[in-house]
Amino acid sequence: MINFGKIELEEVMMEALKAQKINKPTAVQEAVYEEILAGKNMIVQAQTGSGKTLAYLLPLIRKYQGIEKSNKVLILVPTQELALQVHRQIEQLAKNTGSKISSVAVFGNVRIDRQIESLREKPLFVVGTANRVLELIEKKKIAAHLIETLVLDEADKLLHKKVIEEQKMVCKKLMRDTQKLFFSASMPEAAVKAAEELAPQAVIYREKKENTMPTTIQHSYAVVKKNERIEMLRKVLSAHKNQKCIVFINGSYEIEQALAKLTYLHYNVEAIYGRSSKEERKNAMERFKSGKTNILIATDIAARGLHIEGIDVVIHVALPQDKEDYQHRAGRCGRNGKKGESIVFVTENELPHIQKLERQLLIHFAHQTTDNKPKTYNRPKKKAADPKKK
Ligand code: AMP
Repeated sequence: MINFGKIELEEVMMEALKAQKINKPTAVQEAVYEEILAGKNMIVQAQTGSGKTLAYLLPLIRKYQGIEKSNKVLILVPTQELALQVHRQIEQLAKNTGSKISSVAVFGNVRIDRQIESLREKPLFVVGTANRVLELIEKKKIAAHLIETLVLDEADKLLHKKVIEEQKMVCKKLMRDTQKLFFSASMPEAAVKAAEELAPQAVIYREKKENTMPTTIQHSYAVVKKNERIEMLRKVLSAHKNQKCIVFINGSYEIEQALAKLTYLHYNVEAIYGRSSKEERKNAMERFKSGKTNILIATDIAARGLHIEGIDVVIHVALPQDKEDYQHRAGRCGRNGKKGESIVFVTENELPHIQKLERQLLIHFAHQTTDNKPKTYNRPKKKAADPKKK
């Protein structure tokens, strides 16, 4: 065994991590390792990009090492993209450690027969979205009674009232004493309460409030009329030529408009949203990840939890719904100590929301002026730094 910070790891695992340029654990990885290994239920809130995936994978791989051909860990995620990302992370560790750790990703809107085929070998990890997981449990392709650990990644999203029933139905299929782990960058009280109902006596780990966002991200806002947003987007993108940018737009119609205009102007751009097929989404993600395209337009749902190397700029064409969505969107950049920029477009009437985000997240927004208009927003002095105000 070898020390990885306060964690004891097998040498092969240490070498595998080194191959991914990981040399020391992040705070959350150190904090939760022993508790997870000991089988405790946990609710974990830690910054975007702070290594949450490995924080649960490392102890679980250790816990179930040597077991082949039995479904032991079920990881529920909100999207296909996140399912594939977590699955690939497991496969990479398996490859780099030369072990037989196996994993399958399952999600809806694609044919089920191939997923059934790959489940035949009873992989140790099953990563998927709740509806497809339920379908596969009902068909007896996932052995629910064998699952010993359930992870909810992006837990607050999964515990939201709109979709919580699906996760509850999965829980009902599992043994009552299944270990339950809830991970997210944002864990509002309602999500913690829902998690506690599913996992009584869960140990709660929260990163300090001051650290809700990486300090490497610079935040700014631009005041724009609604019908001028796409033109403003073009201006901001042209000021960030050749940088890797992710653009959040929440309506399919507006996404298509932006896509059409930017493509016409020869920007290297793609989009993932409701109307694109699974295959199109997958290909667009891959081209963006590999750098073939440098601008990705996405909806909140499509982009949750995705780790894409080296995003320089996040542009919010419309305000996010709440502070959690802002955290997740902006948290696509500034990961692992790298610099990032997050730019929000607001209308005059929406300016108070900027103040609110400053207070809630303890961050500061600079005013972007791409059009020489006078500054219209008077920042209240010091208010943003008062952590008691919510
Ligand atoms: P996550 O928060 O799980 O999305 O991870 C974000 C990124 O950080 C991924 O690319 C991980 O490979 C990377 N990462 C995870 N743990 C560490 C670590 N201890 N040191 C450096 N990078 C890490």
